[in-house]
Amino acid sequence: MFGWTGVFLNVDLSKNKVVAESYDATLALNFIGGRGFAAKILWDKLKPGVNPLSPENKLIFAAGPLTGFGLPNSGKLVVAAKSPLTGGYGDGNIGTSAAVQMRTAGYDAVIIEGKAEAPVVLHINDQFAELIDAKALWGLNSFETEAQLKPLYERTAGFVSIGPAGENLVKFATVVSQEGRAGGRPGMGAVMGSKNLKAVVFEGHKDIPAAYPQGLKELSAAGYREILTKPNFSFWKRQGTMSTIEWSQENSALPTFNFREGVFDKADKIGGFAMEKIKVGNRGCPQCNMTCGNVVKDSERKEAELDYENIVMLGSNIGLGNLRQVAALNRVADELGLDTISLGNVLGFAIETSEKNLILEKFHWGKYKETKDLINDIAYRRGFGDVLAEGVQAAAAKIGHGAADWAMHVKGLEVSAYDCHAAPAMALSYATSAIGAHHKDAWVISWEVQFGREGYSEEKINKVIEMQRLRGGVFESLTVCRFPYAELGFELEWYTKYLQAATGREMPFNSLIYSADKTLNLIRAFWLREYADNWTKGMDVPPVRWFKDALTAGPLKGALLDPFKYDAMLKKYYRKRGWDERGVPKKSTLKKLGLSDVAKQLDKYVKLSD
Ligand code: SF4
Repeated sequence: MFGWTGVFLNVDLSKNKVVAESYDATLALNFIGGRGFAAKILWDKLKPGVNPLSPENKLIFAAGPLTGFGLPNSGKLVVAAKSPLTGGYGDGNIGTSAAVQMRTAGYDAVIIEGKAEAPVVLHINDQFAELIDAKALWGLNSFETEAQLKPLYERTAGFVSIGPAGENLVKFATVVSQEGRAGGRPGMGAVMGSKNLKAVVFEGHKDIPAAYPQGLKELSAAGYREILTKPNFSFWKRQGTMSTIEWSQENSALPTFNFREGVFDKADKIGGFAMEKIKVGNRGCPQCNMTCGNVVKDSERKEAELDYENIVMLGSNIGLGNLRQVAALNRVADELGLDTISLGNVLGFAIETSEKNLILEKFHWGKYKETKDLINDIAYRRGFGDVLAEGVQAAAAKIGHGAADWAMHVKGLEVSAYDCHAAPAMALSYATSAIGAHHKDAWVISWEVQFGREGYSEEKINKVIEMQRLRGGVFESLTVCRFPYAELGFELEWYTKYLQAATGREMPFNSLIYSADKTLNLIRAFWLREYADNWTKGMDVPPVRWFKDALTAGPLKGALLDPFKYDAMLKKYYRKRGWDERGVPKKSTLKKLGLSDVAKQLDKYVKLSD
């Protein structure tokens, strides 16, 4: 095989056993890598109904066939498992040297099961793997952990680790690398913590076999040069995703006061231009010349890395308009290993619940110190922090009294940073994303604003499906960053050329889309197998707030989603996906995608229509 290493590494922490396993080329061709591999492994190898925090769950690090060749924006991996937050499929991508090192060590994926008796670090160095006592690291935050490990290994080594949030099984704990590159929103850090696995160190020294190594090198250099020519390149380097704050404010899409509003009166204080005034540098993923992490000195005079999602969720969504303070909260969250999007949601929820006098604790909008204390309480599961550590859906269920009405999530995963009171397509995208309410799979809101946001039209449904296949399917399986394409207009043909040079195979874009659809349907099947009789169409519906509590400020004052129109839109979406009226893939759909074996198994859990 060229492009792929053709090997997975299976690690059983309970048995202290590591086995390399060659896999068949058809698996690579069908599922590409990254998310595709993770979905296939979890479907094939995870028993349904397993407790996500039990030793039986499998934690998977997987990359695509372009990672490790030095190609632009390809230094990423996907971390996946059954999610303790949602009970369904969970994953996230991380830009990290660990991705490159995993591939050059000879593995397309590392699959970890079991539980170590005491905290350990897994060290992988080509064909050698060992578990190292990590008792001295347990309790350290993710930045400290990596700093302690770094001097012990080669300069090029890649690290992923968890902070106290992962150790304490906070349901939205992430896996962190390189001081702030975090991934695995639906609790992948908690899964790692449940296995007593503090960190993984990857060291790789092998050449990944490429079909046309020279051609690949030339294409890579040409790709980097091409990115530099894109008109938006220099502004992107200045602000990265931060300029979206001004855009969201102008378009009433800026989550504010727990998604009650879409505009924030201090938006200019936390936006891209405010950030530029205090910016001290750029950070980014390996093998990228677009480095989009904006480094600033925060209110505690420490360096923090900013992007749109974390600043909005820990800024406007909790009413905080001081950028250096927002940056400090963001850094603390990264150190602790908490997902900043879910964190901003549970904080907003707590403040609103306190405002409504449903809890004894007093929390307030825009209070830095109080919020920072609460963030620590969440990571260490102290007091009310313990309730919030379960995620917003569980917290609302515990509090009752209608609290579910302001708990912003889909399928248990908290909503990313776009308000959808007036964005039906984006709401549909959140509601039907592969992991719950995440923006990565189908970021259609900017297109929707241009196209006309009121309607629930067929074009909108088509756009959501197109983006889900491309972003949630192709990019996540290739484990390449979507930003060159999405933000600079880097042409998709580059990826088919890269693939040809790496793998030696013609893989036209429509074949990648077909694979993407296969992966997305397999993920759907995973959710259905887990939920079985408890699955309802209601799981594909966005938070009730967007249907009930109209915006009270800004140019779109009064805006709300229409439940009947949304329902009709969802039905059409299902039809276009080849799913029945419950959102269950039909037998014929799975057969068309070469997933007849999946249909046969799924039929035992949810009766499938023909
Ligand atoms: S553009 Fe940003 S997210 Fe994408 S690879 Fe570069 S640094 Fe990472």
